[in-house]
Amino acid sequence: GGYDVIAGKWSAGGFMTFLGASFMAYQPIKRLSQVNAILQLGLTSYRRILDVLDTHDPLAGGLRQAQFDTRLQLKGVGLVYPDGRRALRGIDLDIRKGEVLGLAGASGSGKSTIANLLARFYDPTEGSVSLDGYDLREYDVASLRRLFAFVTQDAFLFDDTIAANIAVGDPEASGGAIEDAAKTAYAWEFISRLPDGLATHTGERGVKLSAGQKQRIAIARAVLKRPQILVLDEATSNLDPESEGHVIKALETLLQGKTALVVSHRLQTLEWTSRIVVVDKGAVVEETTYADFSKDPKGALSQLMG
Ligand code: ADP
Ligand code: MG
Repeated sequence: GGYDVIAGKWSAGGFMTFLGASFMAYQPIKRLSQVNAILQLGLTSYRRILDVLDTHDPLAGGLRQAQFDTRLQLKGVGLVYPDGRRALRGIDLDIRKGEVLGLAGASGSGKSTIANLLARFYDPTEGSVSLDGYDLREYDVASLRRLFAFVTQDAFLFDDTIAANIAVGDPEASGGAIEDAAKTAYAWEFISRLPDGLATHTGERGVKLSAGQKQRIAIARAVLKRPQILVLDEATSNLDPESEGHVIKALETLLQGKTALVVSHRLQTLEWTSRIVVVDKGAVVEETTYADFSKDPKGALSQLMG
């Protein structure tokens, strides 16, 4: 190029323009060569997303809208988990509307599995679970799950405000309704002492709450949701005695007039139940009542209570 300029075949300006233009073209051309790599990555992700979208949901339900009028019933229910482990066999259980049924049993005996079957977190591998006489599979899953509130051993809180954590089941709830739920759950006394009250952030970005405080937020969530059926799965385990006192009071209020399954080791929480079913190694081994048991503590339940 320099030689051509000296020879007068090409102007110096033309040469400089050419140089400048080639430098400017360098980056875009380089980027163009990467397009293929990006395209391939995108195509791979796209195929994976399609795979997920195409999966048939094994828990897809029917069209029936769930209410709850009479009873939840397990008939001859057996469950083998996908890993081949058998958790339940031949379970017959009836939860009638308005009753609080107690479920006791050693750790690993299948109590949580039974609780999870009720809201169709799993389907039984044998027998059937029905609501008001219709198999759970006939119901629209979302409408079925709306009937339930679960309070479990380790309350799960989202990294959000306390108010949002209470309003999970009813995002439309007013501030007043959230406060009332917190009061019913005996959570208001500690929430109101926090500098930001209901607006306090929990989880990773916020205050550290004790197990008992988290548990009471989870109970407030259940209170606000006003479920038809309440499932308490060892909701008072993992607590220090002081929190446990508060949580027990909160649960007792929550249970009034409800249909519920109470899974527990504690005699105190079984006192709220109308019947107590004892399971062992995935099978029902005993049925009693709190009144009968306190008069004459015997059988499988007395062994559990030590
Ligand atoms: P409990 O609540 O009475 O302690 P679970 O219902 O949690 O008992 O468990 C009953 C049995 O099923 C146990 O042997 C447990 O290891 C097994 N189990 C529970 N959940 C699963 C799962 N998701 N996959 C495989 N096995 C499970
Ligand atoms: Mg359990």
